[in-house]
Amino acid sequence: MLAASASQSTPGHPEADPVLVIGAGPAGLTAAYELARRGVPVLVVEADAVVGGLARTVEYRGFRFDIGGHRFFTKVPAVAELWRELLGADFLSRPRLSRIYYHGRFFAYPLKPLDTLGNLGLWESLRILASYLWRKLFPIRPEESFEDWVSNRFGRRLYETFFRAYTEKVWGISCRELSAQWAAQRIRGLSVRTALLNMFPGISSGKGSALKTLTERFDYPRLGPGMMWEALAEASRALGGKLQLESRVTRIFHDGRRVQAVEVAQGGRLMRLSAPRVIATLPLKELVLALSPEPPPEVLAAAGRLRYRDFLMVALIVENPEIFPDNWIYIHDDSVRVGRIQNFKNWSPDLVPNARQSCLGLEYFCFEGDELWSLPDGVLIDLARRELAAIGLAEPELVVEGRVVRMPKAYPMYDAGSLEALGVLQEYLERFENLQPVGRNGMHKYNNMDHSMLAAQLAVRNIFGERHDLWSVNSDSEYLEESR
Ligand SMILES: Cc1cc2nc3c(=O)[nH]c(=O)nc-3n(C[C@H](O)[C@H](O)[C@H](O)COP(=O)(O)OP(=O)(O)OC[C@H]3O[C@@H](n4cnc5c(N)ncnc54)[C@H](O)[C@@H]3O)c2cc1C
Repeated sequence: MLAASASQSTPGHPEADPVLVIGAGPAGLTAAYELARRGVPVLVVEADAVVGGLARTVEYRGFRFDIGGHRFFTKVPAVAELWRELLGADFLSRPRLSRIYYHGRFFAYPLKPLDTLGNLGLWESLRILASYLWRKLFPIRPEESFEDWVSNRFGRRLYETFFRAYTEKVWGISCRELSAQWAAQRIRGLSVRTALLNMFPGISSGKGSALKTLTERFDYPRLGPGMMWEALAEASRALGGKLQLESRVTRIFHDGRRVQAVEVAQGGRLMRLSAPRVIATLPLKELVLALSPEPPPEVLAAAGRLRYRDFLMVALIVENPEIFPDNWIYIHDDSVRVGRIQNFKNWSPDLVPNARQSCLGLEYFCFEGDELWSLPDGVLIDLARRELAAIGLAEPELVVEGRVVRMPKAYPMYDAGSLEALGVLQEYLERFENLQPVGRNGMHKYNNMDHSMLAAQLAVRNIFGERHDLWSVNSDSEYLEESR
């Protein structure tokens, strides 16, 4: 039986209360560590058998790989310090090399002038320039969709070349259905002017060149991101924090104002734990659907409208020590279904257990239960093997083995329905004074590890009487500066 106190919170004395944290991904573990560090009893319940959530590391026959590739990059000093403190010399600084594969050619990314010109040819480059100037003169108004947003800034032809196909692979919907707000959040700071400045490092300067999407180096744990989350879990345990794996929260009981208890399924048994304070990192949709008594119909309907993009990765072990030099390659080409290919050896050599082989991760974006998701593993491995050969990266007979990892809810979606629903849910959840949803799916925000960690740190500070609006947290430094 899990231990949990039924004590009520005493304002100003949070250290008397055990806090229940749902989920042991970056956000949940950060919350647990921050609480344990302050001497507050904390219990983390995690549905899976491993920590790290979407940022876990999977191990297979001595090979290690992420769900996608996880770059550690942050502008939040508290997060940067914690990462370094936890891993020390095992936190590597790695060079970034990535390219785009499009119409049979590899383009350097970030784009480089001669390389891009050579790949596109003079005629196509002139057409791209003309289309850019056209959109500058005649922008699309109102700017509603992703397509409008990108075309207005880059021109229609560049949008078609470098944005449309990949974005549609990732999201599984037309760029006309994706909101302009999403583009503004993800590719903010990127324009033709800044991209050109980046092509010529000599003339780019200070702030202007510090583009969030175009960093040249990143940090990475020697044994993959899971190493960070295992270290963080261990650090909380050492401070008295408790962690229960394979324990799924199935219901959240409340009295309309406060959460009182949660039901946890563990090893075929159901348990009820009292929950004087809850930090919840499970997907927002599941949080709302687990509330008991259940919320009003319009709130349930809003939860039903939240959508996710799911993800599967086929890891292939290849009998070749050096297949390509990149960390990853974006596959913009429509002729294959794979969206991105990771070369894990180039993230950290220690992810591969021997010198003669490599491990590639072919990333496929899909919806849980769709045709691709439901293919048997053997068929997916064959597909990945064929597509690797079609792109010209490895002969099929060099692929000695494969492993499929399916990850539901990898990407919270920003379609118009989800955004509207989010507003309804946010407003409804505000009534619960002892419940704080945080994290990526926890807040239905398409964000990185550092953002999830920052929200968790602020949630803990809220328990200590500070007042942070977690919904407005931005992992760029603006939030902290504004909140001072
Ligand atoms: C393909 C891909 C690539 C990425 N690349 C990067 C990158 O390069 N850099 C970067 O910073 N970020 C990257 N991210 C984002 C990063 O993975 C997330 O920001 C981060 O994992 C979010 O942490 P979290 O704790 O909020 O959520 P999660 O990692 O989703 O953790 C939530 C946890 O809650 C658990 N849980 C769910 N339901 C329940 C329940 N009912 N009961 C108990 N437990 C439950 C889950 O099992 C999970 O462990 C990437 C994500 C993807 C999908």
